[in-house]
Amino acid sequence: MGHPERRILGGMTHTSVSAYAAPAPKAPLERITIPRRELGAHDILIDIKYAGICHSDIHTVRAEWGDDGAFPIVPGHEIAGVVAEVGAEVTRYRAGDRVGVGCFVDSCRECANCLAGLEQYCTGELGNVGTYNATGRDGETTYGGYSTHIVVDENYALRIPESIPLDAAAPLLCAGITLYSPLAHWQAGPGKKVAVVGLGGLGHMGVKIAHAMGAEVTVLSQSLRKKDDGLRLGADHYYATSDPATFEELAGTFDLIVNTVSANLDLNAYLGLLRTDGTLVQLGAPENPLPVAAFALIPQRKSIAGSMIGGIQETQEMLDFCGEHGLTADIEVITADRINEAYERVMASDVRYRFVIDTATI
Ligand code: NAP
Ligand code: ZN
Ligand code: ZN
Repeated sequence: MGHPERRILGGMTHTSVSAYAAPAPKAPLERITIPRRELGAHDILIDIKYAGICHSDIHTVRAEWGDDGAFPIVPGHEIAGVVAEVGAEVTRYRAGDRVGVGCFVDSCRECANCLAGLEQYCTGELGNVGTYNATGRDGETTYGGYSTHIVVDENYALRIPESIPLDAAAPLLCAGITLYSPLAHWQAGPGKKVAVVGLGGLGHMGVKIAHAMGAEVTVLSQSLRKKDDGLRLGADHYYATSDPATFEELAGTFDLIVNTVSANLDLNAYLGLLRTDGTLVQLGAPENPLPVAAFALIPQRKSIAGSMIGGIQETQEMLDFCGEHGLTADIEVITADRINEAYERVMASDVRYRFVIDTATI
């Protein structure tokens, strides 16, 4: 790793750093060198310590959301590290601070959503600028957290509470906020029955956060294989969706269902588990459309909704909530040469519950 090497690239000064990238759709990830911009006045240079592997990284490099990827793609939007240097006008951070970066690194800062702290739904020309596989306002391609360093505007970084170790904090930057935001928005709390579908990276954080918010939590997993884990993580109940009796027993039960599954499910069966006025929030982003029958919604005034990560202020709120409640991700730390193996295991639902790359090995 060492200290990043400075050089001139395309007329601008850049720093070369090591990273892992997918060179082409579905190709294995391999080590490469990428440029990071010189520090602007409001930028911070982060020495990345850990980067989580989100299923969205896998959808992206496998071109499952369309083949418009800017390959080589350096994935990683669950970034935890330490500030190494700050730009001249930075006020929020100092060298040595523990920080995180999530799914986006910029937005227009002017639209109604940005002004309301909903930067993830920025309606500006570029929308939110993804941490990787996106084009920044400077016209440059963004590269994510499977890397030793990143340069980010201080307004798009988050402070990681001292009580959370950096490795177990990284997954909060996507999996944590993706569950915290809808659970808060649909008011998971005492007296509410919440179902979490899929006990993977997102799902396991959903169980922990919904439980900490005071809701009665049920896991709906493909099998009972992870039942002990689910109950330990904070679930009150655990059911296998492979058993048709589950759908009869739980009919009309839940106020809120958060679906974290990365593959297509029969949503109509899950809508049957909602009570009157209940909402199913779709968080998983499978490749293909999810057909919904009108009569799965109409008779009990049910809703189906979507939700995407969270804004900067809400992400900080989530980190502070996790710090106060002692919530961290359950992780398996891996060396960078095991990224491709980890991808295979995530695709096989064989993850407990987030792989995190030790970036010192990149
Ligand atoms: P993950 O760790 O792979 O977890 C997904 C879980 O879904 C698996 O552990 C498995 O749980 C279940 N599952 C997988 N395949 C299934 C199948 N064929 N049938 C039924 N259940 C299946 O993935 P993740 O990182 O949590 O991400 C989940 C999804 O959310 C991905 O599509 C990702 O792109 C998306 N995502 C969305 C947002 C957002 O802002 N909305 C943010 C991040 C990620 P069980 O073994 O318990 O059944
Ligand atoms: Zn993610
Ligand atoms: Zn905006």
